[in-house]
Formats: sequence, structure tokens, C-alpha cells
Amino acid sequence: MTTFIQNTDIPNYSTPFYYYNLNLLEKTLKTAQQEAKKHNFHIHYALKANNNPEILSMIQSFGIGADCVSGNEITTAIAHDFPANKIFFAGVGKTDKEIQTAIKNNIFCFNVESLQELEVLNNWAQEFQTNIRVALRINPNIDAKTHKFISTGKAENKFGIPDEKIDQAIEIIENSSSINLIGLHFHIGSQILDLEIYKILCETANYWNNYFLQKNHKLKILNLGGGLGIDYQNPEKNSIPDFKAFFQVFAQHLKTLPQQEVHFELGRSLVGQCGNLITKVLYIKEGLQKNFAIIDAGMTDLIRPALYQAQHKIKILTPKKTTDKINYEIVGPICESADSFSQSTHLPKLKRGDYLMINSVGAYGEVMASQYNMRDKIKAFTSFSKH
Ligand SMILES: *Cc1c(COP(=O)(O)O)cnc(C)c1O
Repeated sequence: MTTFIQNTDIPNYSTPFYYYNLNLLEKTLKTAQQEAKKHNFHIHYALKANNNPEILSMIQSFGIGADCVSGNEITTAIAHDFPANKIFFAGVGKTDKEIQTAIKNNIFCFNVESLQELEVLNNWAQEFQTNIRVALRINPNIDAKTHKFISTGKAENKFGIPDEKIDQAIEIIENSSSINLIGLHFHIGSQILDLEIYKILCETANYWNNYFLQKNHKLKILNLGGGLGIDYQNPEKNSIPDFKAFFQVFAQHLKTLPQQEVHFELGRSLVGQCGNLITKVLYIKEGLQKNFAIIDAGMTDLIRPALYQAQHKIKILTPKKTTDKINYEIVGPICESADSFSQSTHLPKLKRGDYLMINSVGAYGEVMASQYNMRDKIKAFTSFSKH
């Protein structure tokens, strides 16, 4: 451990643990905000990617809003000083309790995903004798060409209101005195690296923007969602995603109306690269076919490889004299065959006690951790080192 602490202030904690590099997070946020501001775009952070308190506070300090998918995320955002008028509430399954939490906190907008949700929201708004603002999440039927579990914009996905129900949604809103329609919302999936897909999304958004205009709804907000991917293969070379190219696609292809605001909900691209999972080799199991390195982190600590077949870069932290490499399957200790981090990783000959670092785990890592097998809850540490 002492070796990788060189030039850093990472303390000698017991493994496994998450380690967040706040210096990189700060640079990432700065870049994202700068590029967004060039086009007068607004960023909201999808809290579900990572809710570490220090990370939330830093994101909030950049004037970024909050995109929440549960009542607890709303109260967490408020506790971290995200202003209510920058809080959005999305999700297909908002409970009555969560809707009440959102109304009581006077959040800015509900992103609505079904006709029935509109009716329920209308009832709750009347109950509270208040007006609420909504954006309709339209299912654009676009293939984000990402893993099927993180694709959300196809007709077969549960998300959003399908084309043929939009007129009915408009009717419900027009008949309601408590619901103000302020925007349209799209979110087609996550870990999207092909920016061409966002051009298609712009065309779809333009179509609907115009459609609503024809129906006398001049909308204040076009929300294009999140989904910008990160480079899991080269986390050091591409530690900051190409926000410039991402926002330029929308600046070029989106046809906004005068005074219309353009919003984005970024999760992974803001926090993904700042996180690492530090782990220790417990055992080496040498076989005829394969060598296993059994580490003390498991799918309970990082489920992405098991759930999405995600490949994270794994590096050795313990210094080695030899540069000869051996092929390992790196697996966790959990009683599941899916508990594997990499089928094939070339590393110098490992031994019990060596430290490894799994990169790019800042998004959908710690937040998805479980205590299956009655494991200890994974810890997390932050550092401001220049490392
Ligand atoms: C998860 C989610 C996001 C963030 O997605 P990323 O891929 O992490 O950028 C944005 N909007 C909605 C509605 C989401 O569910």
C-alpha cells in the first residue's frame, strides 16, 4: 500500500475501499460547465450515479442542478444545498410518498412517464392546493447502441410516453388547472460514445418541439437527458470526457425556440473517472487452463462487470521488478460465478497481499453496492491529491 500512497495522501485503509480523486472531479466539472455555458446549456447531475456527500457538495458548488429518481434523492439534494428550483424528479414509478415529498419541497419539475402518472400528480397537486410543473418524457424509439440493460429509449423499454399517447397526455394537461406543462424530456440510455446517436435524438426533439408549438404549447425547456459515455479502456488518457464535442452536437442540430432552455442530466460522464476501487489479492489459484487471482473486492462492491459485462481497467499498485506478464482471471470472493472482474488481464506475477486498483468506478459503483453474503459495507475515501 505504501507505494501507491507515494505522491498522494491516501491513507493506509483496509481493503477493499472506494477512493475518489476530487482533484480530477473538480477539473471534470469545470470543463463540463465551461463547455455547457458556451451554448447557454444547463446541467443537472443525476444523483443516482454517486451520492457521496463530498462529491455532491462539489457538484453543487459549480451551480449544477439535481436530477433525482427517488424521494430520498430529493431530500439528499436539498440537504446538500441544491436549490429547489434546480431539482427535477424523474422515474417510471414515483410513489405517493415520493410525490408528496417533491410537492412539499416545491421542486422545479416532474418528468412524467405515463398518462396515469399525470392523473395521480394532478390529484396530489389539488390535494395540496398548489400548481406543479411537469415535463413529458417522450419515448423517442431510438436505439442507443449500448448494453441492453442501459438502453432506455426504445419502444420496448419501460421508459417514457410512446408517440401514440402524446395527444392524450396533452388533453389531460389542458383539462387540469394544477399542472403546468413546461418542457419535454428525453433520455435514451447510458454509456453512449457514438455522438451520431445524439444527432438522431436532436431530430426527434425538433419534431416534438414543433408538434407542441403547433398545439399552442411553447415550451420553456428541452431536456435531452444524459448518457454520455466514458473511456473505460483508457481512463488515464481520457480522464475527462469530450464535453465540447458532446454539447456541439446539440448546439448544431437542436432547433430551439427563442428563450427556450436546453437541459442535460449527466451522471456517469461527471463522476465516472474520479473513482477507483482499491483491493488486495487474497489468493492465487494456478491451473492448467487458467490462473485465477482471487481478490477481496467482489460483485457486492462493484456489480457493473456482473450486471453489464462491463470491463474496467485493472492495474497493479505494488511495485514489481519483472515486466513479464501472466494472464489472470480476476475474481471476487462471492459465491456466484458472475463474480468476476475480468476474464483476462495481463499483469506481472501476482502474489498474496499485492494491491490492485480497478479504475473508472465513480459512477454506478458504490451506489450499487450490497452486503450479500453478509459482507461489510464498503467504505469510501476522498482525496484532493494531484495523483
Ligand atoms: C440515469 C439517468 C441519467 C444519467 O445517465 P448517465 O448515463 O449517468 O449520464 C439521466 N437521466 C435519467 C432520466 C436517468 O435515469
